[in-house]
Amino acid sequence: MKYDGGCLCGQTRYTVIGDPIRVLYCHCNDCKKQTSAPYSVVASYAKEQITFQSSNFLKKYHSVGDSGSPVKRSFCGQCGSPIFSEIEAAPDVIIVKAGTFDDASWLKPSMEIYTKDKLKCAQIDPSIDSFPGPRPR
Ligand SMILES: [Zn+2]
Ligand SMILES: [Zn+2]
Repeated sequence: MKYDGGCLCGQTRYTVIGDPIRVLYCHCNDCKKQTSAPYSVVASYAKEQITFQSSNFLKKYHSVGDSGSPVKRSFCGQCGSPIFSEIEAAPDVIIVKAGTFDDASWLKPSMEIYTKDKLKCAQIDPSIDSFPGPRPR
């Protein structure tokens, strides 16, 4: 599988190759603030699965999640689209904001995390695994 994606303005473009490690819904409050959406859908990949055709405008914002672990959130500095996150606990992994795929119709999240912060308007699929905080390791 090979999927292209990018930001709203087109200055950030990437391609991922192969299946994601995992696709999940994140209900954390930091994702809400960053995206303005009631939850994020994210797809994690090994870093070698992603290549950037264009990333000159990428900026990083370092936040500290309520688990206490730092999160580096990368976004397009020209249009503001959140593109991916990196977490210290998994340095070889890149967590792509799945709404930036040109075609996101294939996404099938397998779990929800941070359901302690889940909004009433964000009730999803009760049959998938859900965790009140981060995904247990
Ligand atoms: Zn952009
Ligand atoms: Zn989140």
